[in-house]
Amino acid sequence: MILPEHVTPVLVCPCCGYKMDRATGIGYDRPPAPGSVTVCMNCAEVLMFGADGTLRQPLLAEMLDWTSDTHRTLDQLLRALRVVKGKARAK
Ligand SMILES: [Zn+2]
Repeated sequence: MILPEHVTPVLVCPCCGYKMDRATGIGYDRPPAPGSVTVCMNCAEVLMFGADGTLRQPLLAEMLDWTSDTHRTLDQLLRALRVVKGKARAK
């Protein structure tokens, strides 16, 4: 399965400082917007796109409002990231 990739302005992970300029929608083909949920591919922190065009950590109240589909997708993505990171460390 090929997932749609969207070019973004350079974004900085607030947790690890990793710079990214792409976002891939999982389950939909829209570019990220304020409030979109994402994951840093470097440190696996769950993040949100802020209204000011930056990334930030979500508030607990926001996470509680996410649908079960969002939580399930994040769980699958984080599991996949652990596998990929584990294989990269083993090389
Ligand atoms: Zn990060």
